Amino acid sequence: MKTVETELLVVGGGVAGAYAALTARSYGADVLLACKGALSGGSTRWAQGGIAAPLESGDEASHAADTRKAGRGLCEPETVGVFVREARTQVEILRDLGVTFSPQVTLEGGHSRARIRHTGDATGHAVSLALSAALRAGQGPALQVQEGAFVQTLRCSGGRVVGADLLTPAGPLRVRAGAVLLATGGFGRLFGVTTAPPEGTGDGVGLAWAAGACLRDLEFVQFHPTAVVRGGEAQLVTEAARGEGGQLLNARGERFMPRYDEALELAPRDVVARAIAAEIAATGGVWLDLRHLGEAFVQARFPTVTESLGRWGLNPGTDPIPVCPAVHYTVGGVQTDVDGRAGVPGLYAAGEVASSGLHGANRLASNSLSEGLVFGARAARAALAELRTPHGDGEAPPFTGVDPACLPRLRAVMDRAAGLRRNAADLEAALADWTWPAAPGVTRASLEAGHLATLGELLLRAALAREESRGGHCRTDFPAEATPPRHAVWGHSSAGQPVLREVPVGPAVGAR
Ligand SMILES: Cc1cc2nc3c(=O)[nH]c(=O)nc-3n(C[C@H](O)[C@H](O)[C@H](O)COP(=O)(O)OP(=O)(O)OC[C@H]3O[C@@H](n4cnc5c(N)ncnc54)[C@H](O)[C@@H]3O)c2cc1C
Repeated sequence: MKTVETELLVVGGGVAGAYAALTARSYGADVLLACKGALSGGSTRWAQGGIAAPLESGDEASHAADTRKAGRGLCEPETVGVFVREARTQVEILRDLGVTFSPQVTLEGGHSRARIRHTGDATGHAVSLALSAALRAGQGPALQVQEGAFVQTLRCSGGRVVGADLLTPAGPLRVRAGAVLLATGGFGRLFGVTTAPPEGTGDGVGLAWAAGACLRDLEFVQFHPTAVVRGGEAQLVTEAARGEGGQLLNARGERFMPRYDEALELAPRDVVARAIAAEIAATGGVWLDLRHLGEAFVQARFPTVTESLGRWGLNPGTDPIPVCPAVHYTVGGVQTDVDGRAGVPGLYAAGEVASSGLHGANRLASNSLSEGLVFGARAARAALAELRTPHGDGEAPPFTGVDPACLPRLRAVMDRAAGLRRNAADLEAALADWTWPAAPGVTRASLEAGHLATLGELLLRAALAREESRGGHCRTDFPAEATPPRHAVWGHSSAGQPVLREVPVGPAVGAR
């Protein structure tokens, strides 16, 4: 197998990976960035609404309070503090890289004031383009980018991650690395109805788990309240549409949010999503109404939404838009500290793959692009400070793929048991039937399916064990929040068996 060496292997080309790679290179490190899709792929390019950061230092306390309020007691105070102190500076660096934000900031659900910077409704696209351009401009022997390069396994030696095996368009490639930084995004594709891109199969969470890292709070899954679903495809209508005054109406034409939350359409996402689901069940449908904002304003402010809904014959400036909740963001992931350390020497994680402690039980709108910047940069710096010259190839932890033909059934099981409302009977039924045939050969699709099957089981077990309702996890049989708030952390016993532990809020500890 062809083998290359690098100081830092970054896996993922979204906001967290791209920014981590640029940061590491700016400190003089040799970096190889591998992403299984195109460089500007992942969720990042689909982000519409914007990027949240305190507007000035006086806004830090308020942004932190909003983040903690959405997180329902499970945010890590240290992580939130670091985030609000550093996000503004990192977002300003995006400007230097060529992102032109609209002059007006906007408001989104859960924020107590307008503080979301945006580029119309295509913020992620602008961020992706700017970061990809900077990476391409910096490419050379010390900064290499491998697109279409799928990381199939990490390699470990003496308890340390020492590299990875990749499937690339040119064939298999072994990378020996001083450290590996996972920025592989989330696992929304575990569900059937999701706004997540096809790459969102949770590979990084599965890779880290196989390498011995701990996984935290997998059961918290964020549903976006307003997706338009046709033929199995979920098209997002950005939260900013409600931030600009969009109203939710049920099939009786009634504006129902006053009955659910005093923040109306701008209540936290879990509240709005469950309200919409209840109104669909009670009245037959829910619509997002932007007509009173005026067609010209809607088209100018939301050109991406206008264009994408136009494919389905809907004009958001003149038609009420039929909406329903869809899986949008996976809050849990690889447990890290504020420097992206994943508890296994040589392994770091940042962005949606990580459970950094920022989001608690529910992510505040538009906090994730800025999370990718802040913690991508911090993880890169921490990794550089702890690099080891790679010695030997190490070994791949055992991992079995699953037949990808199972995925439609697996996703239907997850949608039914682990959706907006959960209960013990449905979760137990899903687990009783949780066996998936191994794949005939090792392919990218079978490994992705294998990660989803692993994460699905861990998520279902954690959801069953969490006998309370909090943020993105709602149990109809345990409707109240339990006290005190506890993380659910998957780790390994000394015999290598999965163990689920309840852990109080506080700085993350090691992987085992
Ligand atoms: C439709 C939509 C709209 C959103 N809107 C907003 C918004 O307005 N504001 C906001 O803050 N957040 C928003 N989010 C969330 C936000 O976009 C994501 O949380 C964030 O972009 C994740 O960035 P990331 O770098 O962690 O991962 P991603 O951008 O998802 O990138 C993951 C990368 O990892 C690569 N990868 C994965 N597995 C492998 C593997 N095995 N080998 C090699 N490469 C791999 C992928 O190819 C990709 O390059 C939105 C999400 C969606 C889906």
